[in-house]
Amino acid sequence: MTVRVRFAPSPTGWLHIGGARTALYNFLFAKKHSGKFILRIEDTDQSRSTDEAIKAILEDMRWLGLQWDEGPEIGGPYGPYRQTERSHLYEEAIKQLLSSGSAYYCFCSPEELEKMREDALSRKLSFRYPRKCRNISLEEAEERIRRGEPAAVRFKTPLEGRIKINDIVRGEVEFDLSQLDDFVIARSDKSPTYNLAVVVDDALMKITHVIRGDDHLSNTPKQVLIYRALGYPVPEFAHLSMILGPDKKPLSKRHGSTAVFEFKNKGYLPEAMVNYLALLGWSFDDKTTFFTPQELIEKFDLSRVSANPAVFDFQKLEWLNGVWIRQLDTKELAKRIEPYVKSDYGENFEIDENFYKLVELTKERMKTLRDFVDWTYFYFIEENEFSIDEKDLKKVAASSGFKDILKEARDELSALSNWDRSEIEKALRELVARLEEKPKKVFQAVRVAVTGRLVSPPLFESLEILGKERTLRRLEKAVLFL
Ligand code: GLU
Repeated sequence: MTVRVRFAPSPTGWLHIGGARTALYNFLFAKKHSGKFILRIEDTDQSRSTDEAIKAILEDMRWLGLQWDEGPEIGGPYGPYRQTERSHLYEEAIKQLLSSGSAYYCFCSPEELEKMREDALSRKLSFRYPRKCRNISLEEAEERIRRGEPAAVRFKTPLEGRIKINDIVRGEVEFDLSQLDDFVIARSDKSPTYNLAVVVDDALMKITHVIRGDDHLSNTPKQVLIYRALGYPVPEFAHLSMILGPDKKPLSKRHGSTAVFEFKNKGYLPEAMVNYLALLGWSFDDKTTFFTPQELIEKFDLSRVSANPAVFDFQKLEWLNGVWIRQLDTKELAKRIEPYVKSDYGENFEIDENFYKLVELTKERMKTLRDFVDWTYFYFIEENEFSIDEKDLKKVAASSGFKDILKEARDELSALSNWDRSEIEKALRELVARLEEKPKKVFQAVRVAVTGRLVSPPLFESLEILGKERTLRRLEKAVLFL
């Protein structure tokens, strides 16, 4: 048996952390078992699905490295992979269920149903469709439809009995059929509902393992009923537990960024995201935290996926991103940073020796690629656009002798014939001694004047990379300004 798994997002918005983790677990499981990873777009809810969302989801999946073996843009033997292009397959299945007596037409109007719902509510009962149309014969129903009556299609759920599934993550789960509704499988406009479409697709696409969020656990008995009624083998199920925020409430926007693209924009590496997402509900040995994608493929195992909710730890992800940043060699890291510099300072930017030096200088402390862009403002900003951060300026300008320090520093530095870090350091330390000031005071004054910020990469190296001319010009400007 070849393992075939799928990720089936509804394109109603961005790819979020939860969806990305589901996609990743499917991907890892497929790769580990030399199987196929299928991407299917579940866009039957046309009022909420958009082409932009599809595009964004595909882009974010590719960014994470979760390339699908079959799906949109690349096709495959069981396509199309977009539900709106598969209507004929659902219609056929619905016809089959109707003629075998597993489903029936329901003529109850939305208004009638609403009344039934209110009625149940007023009697403090949970609403279940009272099966009013369950015994209308197919012939009679078809006659009414011919006369123009609108009808939905409902599944004829057995009135009693149990369905047991052996969920790979949750173990044995039993459902009491008497608690289930005669659920709708096709709306009156003939469009299939999620439960019908998902079964038809998973069956026809020969999906062997359904790995998805546990918000779908309660749909599973309905789907098992449909599999059986259509005569399809039932796949294995693995329902992944929820992801919670640090306050143990379901992860949401309130907690911070939850969309994959937001992390990308903030300068997270896809390797770090994948590494962290893998640990969000799975562990190898309770202590290893660093995994390359290849190691994940080798080590990932659904049997070590926890049935308990996972807590999303923003700090841990940030830490892991830093670890990953330090895994990359300088050249590679520079390549990853390049787009962020370009987006801030223009497309004309080209990687050069100084850029590599700046990367080396900041690599140890970087937690996100954006840190680099923030810290190297002083280098990338055009000279005529350079400005000193006002808050930072206030902090140092308040201390006595600020202007004199800058003036003296300018003189000392302009006298240097060799512009390198050790000469710069020597000159500034001599100045410290001569002025009988604390080193920190002198260095912070120079730092603010030249880099524009109180936080910058190491000072002497920064000045060396910035160059003598630009350094002196900024000191001069600061003196004049004061
Ligand atoms: N389209 C469904 C969702 O996004 C997928 C459910 C499933 O994997 O069966 O929640």
